Amino acid sequence: LFNLLSYPANNVGDPFSSGYYGLDSRDFEVEVLEWFAKLYKAPSDNYWGYVTNGGTEGNMYGLYLARELYPKGVVYYSQDTHYSVSKNIRMLNMEHIMVKSRRNGEMDYNDLHDMISTWRSAPPIIFANMGTTMKEGFDDIDQIKKVLNKLAIPEYYIHVDAALGGMTLPFIDGSPKFDFTTGVQSLSISGHKMIGSPIPCGIVLALKSNVGRVARAVEYVGSLDSTVSGSRNAFTPVLLWYAIKENGFNGFKKLIRGCVRTADYAVKKFNEAGINAWKNDYAITVVFPRPNEDVSIKWKLAVQDNMAHIICMPHVTKDTIDEIIKDLKI
Ligand SMILES: *Cc1c(COP(=O)(O)O)cnc(C)c1O
Repeated sequence: LFNLLSYPANNVGDPFSSGYYGLDSRDFEVEVLEWFAKLYKAPSDNYWGYVTNGGTEGNMYGLYLARELYPKGVVYYSQDTHYSVSKNIRMLNMEHIMVKSRRNGEMDYNDLHDMISTWRSAPPIIFANMGTTMKEGFDDIDQIKKVLNKLAIPEYYIHVDAALGGMTLPFIDGSPKFDFTTGVQSLSISGHKMIGSPIPCGIVLALKSNVGRVARAVEYVGSLDSTVSGSRNAFTPVLLWYAIKENGFNGFKKLIRGCVRTADYAVKKFNEAGINAWKNDYAITVVFPRPNEDVSIKWKLAVQDNMAHIICMPHVTKDTIDEIIKDLKI
């Protein structure tokens, strides 16, 4: 794909409408979006999306749509939510309430219930996680809907931050559901996490009927101005397209099965070595007590408070785990 870098390509504007610019990879981008739309069971005649610069932009887009639909809405998100969310909420000037998390990183639905019941007059905008950053906790869409139904909330919006889980859960049998049939209205997925694009990127998907209320036609570029960025990367959609063609659904399934196996192995071996490690069901992130600085720096471990984690991505092998444990025991 290197050759493509010799062209000043630009996907400026809406991926589904052709711009005046001409030198773009929109056809590839649309194929990528189609693939993800199928993966998350989006209604085939009512989805929209684009390839973003990363998870943060996809989350911003989802929140932006929600705010345009419900200008008086209040955003509910758990304590374990990624730091990009408080930034996005500040930039969008949205009312927000932080909900408690359970110890495994998942939202506390009792607290969600209590919070929504105090602010009942404002439409809730639920920011759910399919894989929190530190503990890879999954918020249960069914539980969230139960809370909304119990309180007889007529209007609400659910956005899912599936930065990591968006590319792992659909390939794991029996994993929690967060597709469009569950009532989710937008999704943000990372392209540089599980897919492993060498250039940061992401995918955002939303219901087209909602997007129609936000998009504005711009004559200058001959396209709908429905994206956060104006000029957009034309190279990353091709990287994603290539990875999808190379792996296919079954290829990803095999890859992710390997990740889950490594994570299970890690929990077992850590515990055998007397280190208190654990992981959520269907997760590939192993959480354990924060080790000393030398080990964290050597292995580039992400640390927060008294925790550290290893995300068992495809390049992490059982040997890697054994090596880390050896270092932890010194
Ligand atoms: C990585 C991550 C993001 C977004 O990250 P970008 O750096 O913008 O791609 C958002 N949410 C979660 C849960 C993440 O793990």
